[in-house]
Amino acid sequence: MTYDMPSGEIFVAGEWRRGQGRDIRSVFAADGTENLTFKGAAQSDADDAVDGAATAQKAWGALKPFERARHLYRIADAIEADASRLAYIQMRDTSKSLRETTALVRSAAGTFRYFAAVAETHDEQLTSARGEYLSLSVHEPLGVVAGITPWNSPIASDAQKAAPALAAGNAIILKPSSWAPLTSLALAEIVEQAGLPAGLFSVLPGSGSEVGNRLVEHPDVAKVSFTGGTSTGLKLAEIAARKLMPISLELGGKSPTIVFEDADIDLAIAGILFGVFSSTGQSCIAGSRLFVAQAIYGEFMDRLVTATRQLRIGHPEDPRTQVAPMVHADQRASVAGFVEAAREEGGRVLCGGRAPEGPHYADGTYFEPTIIDEVSNDALICREEVFGPVLAAMPFSGDDEVIARANDNAYGLACGLWTRDLPRAWRVARSVTSGTVWVNTYKQFSISAPFGGEGMSGMGREKGRQGLLAYMAQKSVYLDTSGAPHPWADWPPAGE
Ligand code: NAD
Repeated sequence: MTYDMPSGEIFVAGEWRRGQGRDIRSVFAADGTENLTFKGAAQSDADDAVDGAATAQKAWGALKPFERARHLYRIADAIEADASRLAYIQMRDTSKSLRETTALVRSAAGTFRYFAAVAETHDEQLTSARGEYLSLSVHEPLGVVAGITPWNSPIASDAQKAAPALAAGNAIILKPSSWAPLTSLALAEIVEQAGLPAGLFSVLPGSGSEVGNRLVEHPDVAKVSFTGGTSTGLKLAEIAARKLMPISLELGGKSPTIVFEDADIDLAIAGILFGVFSSTGQSCIAGSRLFVAQAIYGEFMDRLVTATRQLRIGHPEDPRTQVAPMVHADQRASVAGFVEAAREEGGRVLCGGRAPEGPHYADGTYFEPTIIDEVSNDALICREEVFGPVLAAMPFSGDDEVIARANDNAYGLACGLWTRDLPRAWRVARSVTSGTVWVNTYKQFSISAPFGGEGMSGMGREKGRQGLLAYMAQKSVYLDTSGAPHPWADWPPAGE
């Protein structure tokens, strides 16, 4: 079954129009066929989007939260009604398997529904007074927000930014990656139907250094929510600092997974395979550094390598596919370069390490799931995010040692632990520097659990009830209840 791609126009300030920027060529990396070539946004489109957003936000921000929530529920319903097309477009955009993109579309609908509910059930606070007044703490929208997103899970990233931003009463401008620009445009078609004020939601596929940069620098953009690579995030944080603008940064990772000698081995193997090889490793939370207790290292690695060789590499549309092609030939070349560097540092490639051979794979950006050991935690493959299906494995011999080695890394996004000893799991979970820790599972997600990173993995948290407040300014209001002039002024003068 095939579906129509978006028209090739971009959605600016409530209107579909031809972008004023450079051509964007979107390709289905599974076979190299073109999805669409269209004109991307230019800085002038970004300026128009901000102007339109500022106007639309005034009407939207004045609505009561329950009224805004109604629109978001409509968006969630419309995403579900169009789920097959959205999943198909995202599959063509990213080359992820249809099975995965279908799940991502469902989660995006859930995100809109969740933040609609959070907005309409959010209570403001009456704080404890120290005088004859009521003191209230209230939250207000920030204004125009920009959401800058990467290519790996566009519908999920878009929803995680647009849903709380809109629920909080802001306008939002999304800037998707040029490698996966179509899903966000398809989402714009849906949002347009939901009857939000024109201009409240714009989508500007275009160059990061031009369009993305313009949005971050724009004086009327009040917040940027960025998901992407750490080096880009650091640049944007500098611009935000010059404006004193809040910015949230969801960045890269090099997440450790730890298998203790008492682990349930079947559980650990399934979780590790899913944690690092699903989405072909193109996931910020990929569990890409594996530490296995020395006592079970040899046997465990034999079983893990056997299971990895059995993973089904295949076309994204095949429901049996576990490992789909990579998003782009450049990304595959970058991953191959990391494997080569690991070899040069003495690493032993236990499986994979190359593109699979055979006619099925000839036209796609496939790469075999790869496990490398005999590398140190200081090797490039253990320090840098590979963003591909590559796992580096190392033995360890004690809890304190493995905690120190897990933490000896610039990133701090996620961690997986495999043990039957729950007090040990608790101790280790509290000792690792990581925004999320999974125990005897991996990559499970709930929209109600806050998500974000430590260190070079970012700043701020998305999701959860607090996720709404990340898009709001807090204000204190004091209301006098005494009816009497302030005694300091001594007015009216006593005795007159
Ligand atoms: P990237 O940093 O290259 O690009 C991300 C977005 O930023 C794109 O839209 C890009 O066009 C834009 N951009 C690039 N330069 C810019 C600039 N100077 N000014 C403004 N915008 C700019 O990242 P990518 O390669 O698209 O995505 C992969 C990265 O995303 C990985 O590092 C991955 O870990 C990270 N990621 C993090 C999370 C998370 O939640 N922590 C989730 C998914 C992906």
